[in-house]
Amino acid sequence: MRSGSTELSSVELDTLLDRLLEVAGRASRDVAALTGDFDAIVAASTQSNADDEHDPEGSTIAFERAQVSSLIDRARAAESELAQALGRWEAGTYGYCEICGDPIGYERLLARPAATRCIAHA
Ligand SMILES: [Zn+2]
Repeated sequence: MRSGSTELSSVELDTLLDRLLEVAGRASRDVAALTGDFDAIVAASTQSNADDEHDPEGSTIAFERAQVSSLIDRARAAESELAQALGRWEAGTYGYCEICGDPIGYERLLARPAATRCIAHA
């Protein structure tokens, strides 16, 4: 063993898979909910025929739309990171640093299930 990180036990691996699936499920729900919010805001702005430049309500809608849009981007990024993590799980490479190949470490994976690098290479 080269570093302080140790190989994961099967109990730890089970816990991490549960966590990975839980977080991935939450990310998918976030994307769905935020996409729904976004559609509702767009529908509201279309209905009110808002002129963003002169109508104060219009600029609020534009602001909300930008906010939700950036939340959607973030949720989609998280969703795809987690999908990739599940792919690594299936390939048997989950939990190893993509730079040095050392085990990433249980605590770190618990906190960041989609982590691809050990703390030294984060
Ligand atoms: Zn590393």
